[in-house]
Amino acid sequence: MMNFKLTDEQELLVVEIQKLMGRENWESYFKECDDNSQYPERWVKELADIGIDSLLLPEERGGSNQGVVTVMAAWEELGRLGGPTYVLYQLCNFNTVLREGTPEQIEKIMALHGTGKQMWNSAITEPGAGSDVGSLQTTYTRKNGKVYLNGHKTFITSSANAPYLVVMAKDSENPSIFTEWFVDMSNPAIKKERLKKLGLKMDGVCEIYFDNVELEEKDMFGTEGNGFLRGKDEFNFERFLTAVCDYGNALCAFEDAAKYANQRVQFGEKIGRFQLIQEKFALMAMKLANMRNMLYETAWKCDNGQSILPEGAMCKYYCANAGFEVVDQAMQVLGGIGIAGNHRVSRFWRDLRVDRVAAGTDEMMILTAGRQVLKKYR
Ligand SMILES: Cc1cc2nc3c(=O)[nH]c(=O)nc-3n(C[C@H](O)[C@H](O)[C@H](O)COP(=O)(O)OP(=O)(O)OC[C@H]3O[C@@H](n4cnc5c(N)ncnc54)[C@H](O)[C@@H]3O)c2cc1C
Repeated sequence: MMNFKLTDEQELLVVEIQKLMGRENWESYFKECDDNSQYPERWVKELADIGIDSLLLPEERGGSNQGVVTVMAAWEELGRLGGPTYVLYQLCNFNTVLREGTPEQIEKIMALHGTGKQMWNSAITEPGAGSDVGSLQTTYTRKNGKVYLNGHKTFITSSANAPYLVVMAKDSENPSIFTEWFVDMSNPAIKKERLKKLGLKMDGVCEIYFDNVELEEKDMFGTEGNGFLRGKDEFNFERFLTAVCDYGNALCAFEDAAKYANQRVQFGEKIGRFQLIQEKFALMAMKLANMRNMLYETAWKCDNGQSILPEGAMCKYYCANAGFEVVDQAMQVLGGIGIAGNHRVSRFWRDLRVDRVAAGTDEMMILTAGRQVLKKYR
């Protein structure tokens, strides 16, 4: 049976998060990081100190193995309190490495556990291969017992600072074989150029050039020819997490706007007394309730071993759009201060807009969901 009541342990975690978020004016730190396109490492380290990076890790790896509903509750509270939860996606990547990695790769990544530092991300997109990932051109070539990587990736999140990337490439001898490689980014044959972007600025994206990057067989990630199989399952989870981030910050924007509407006076009345403003709150509240329900249900499915295809895509599409609409309406309620001041709602507005493209576009989410939904009735 599913219920919407958090366990005592989950409630305690939420209270710890509230304490951490209330300890200092994190918003000024987030603003500084956003303005400087800088990863908020100090915040992520403090989250690691209260075990946020261990929520999905097994106990034998120092984790608390609490499951996805707990992650949902933690991300919801962090987002509600203005935290840029989008930078935390990597904290769920430990398990991927534990499952797919060699002992050496596992050791490298687990050494970063608890540090708040950026770790690794997967690099698939290329200038000519966006939604159509199968058309990628990066190759690996075996020569004299070594492996050489050549190609050009783009829009790779965290690549400005992460020490490792898992790079998707095809076999130059047999281009139907796609394999991932665990690449140390300090290799001098790799060049990076940081790109400017509209939102999600605390986690930079780069163009990356691999010019005969020498690797060894032991640098393979997972198995040869595994192609997009690993990613396929994880994309769903990544989409779900993106949706959770959008929901949390939309909730924050909503609460900021509600408090403002209850105190801002125009024409001799609190603006919250005007029915045109009340309509916005009614619609925002419905969208937030829908987002919350679908996200907790999907989290529950994850914890109960059920597939979240197509739910991952549905959450991503719905929350990126409904979340953006909520933030946009909250911004409207805030009037000029939402646009011209330092208000965090303008940060959320830029951030959520990006999520209609990053981690799979709206259109790809619709295509995935549509196909899967119909499949059930074949
Ligand atoms: C901030 C950010 C971070 C990212 N991080 C990463 C990362 O870490 N790793 C990584 O590998 N990639 C990353 N990406 C890349 C991201 O996954 C791609 O941008 C995305 O998949 C879309 O690819 P594209 O930009 O080439 O657009 P395109 O695929 O060229 O699409 C352009 C437009 O055409 C539409 N379209 C394409 N095909 C169809 C179709 N069949 N039917 C209908 N419409 C279609 C798209 O939906 C879109 O609206 C990131 C992107 C951004 C913006």
